[in-house]
Amino acid sequence: MSAVCATFDAVTFADVTASAVIAAVAEFKRLGREKFLESAGFGPATAYYLELDGELYDSKAIFGYAHGVSGDRVWRSDDFSGGDQTVARHLRELGFTVRYLRNPNWTRDEIVLACAAAEANKWKTLAQESRRAIKLSQLLQSPAIHPLEGRRADFRNPAGIERKVSDIITCHPDYKGKRTNGNRLDGEVLADFLERPAEMRALAETIKTTLLLWDESGAALPDPDLSDDMGIEEGGVLLKMHLRRERDPKLKRKKIAEAKRDGVAIACEACGFDFYRTYGARGLDYIECHHRTPLSVTGKTRTRSQDLALICSNCHRMIHRTARWLTVADLRTLVEAQRATER
Ligand SMILES: [Zn+2]
Ligand SMILES: [Zn+2]
Repeated sequence: MSAVCATFDAVTFADVTASAVIAAVAEFKRLGREKFLESAGFGPATAYYLELDGELYDSKAIFGYAHGVSGDRVWRSDDFSGGDQTVARHLRELGFTVRYLRNPNWTRDEIVLACAAAEANKWKTLAQESRRAIKLSQLLQSPAIHPLEGRRADFRNPAGIERKVSDIITCHPDYKGKRTNGNRLDGEVLADFLERPAEMRALAETIKTTLLLWDESGAALPDPDLSDDMGIEEGGVLLKMHLRRERDPKLKRKKIAEAKRDGVAIACEACGFDFYRTYGARGLDYIECHHRTPLSVTGKTRTRSQDLALICSNCHRMIHRTARWLTVADLRTLVEAQRATER
């Protein structure tokens, strides 16, 4: 029985010809995307797109319509399944290009911003036409969070912002209706907001400032290894910007030269570790620099060498290990207290 079905399915899929697909694309262009999807009875594609002459088309809707052009009736969304092994495979067999495009999941930084917008809107839905939704959409398009490659045209558009804010609101304890399927982080970030609103608002402001100051010319992360190891804030915008600022090689050389001129040891300000003493010539003048003042406080000013602390690699990681960074003085106190317990 199943063999019969499989044959039947295969035959009907194979009925769709390349020219029928071209005709469906023409109809899509004639009506415009929204009307085409609506009249054909399809939702927007979630992952697979037909690419033709540099334009993207929702593959399942195109295929369903093409099925009708090929002589049989038009297939509706429920009549067949889209995806890699069905629609995408058949379109590829016909010689078309099919692209898999999925918008990346929302990061914690993004959810913090959406949550701040929801709070500012008194935990009410944020209409996609509203200024707040449009502003947030523009902010989240920043390449500081997600790279430009691989995004879909609807990446973090105002409608997506409206959906995300609605997801967050349904996690609110005062919300009476049913919860939507948001991401687990929605509820977590919301709980943080309800527990410590001032702190979360300040965090949202800092993320916003960082995104506004982001400058793509700085290119990739200077130390992917360091950012990989940061647990909760992994990929966090604040950490990315921070590392980028303090890893400026010219500034670091200047800082080290000044320290030597002033007779300051090239050693960690928190724990005293001296790379030269441990590693000999190989460790000569080796040290990391940590920026003492958060970007949200300084704004986009040039980093001066007195803003940088000399810090060993271990201490630097400990400072940034959790979302709330330690100051160099805090870490020194911690190291000293720990050493005291060992004596
Ligand atoms: Zn150290
Ligand atoms: Zn640092």
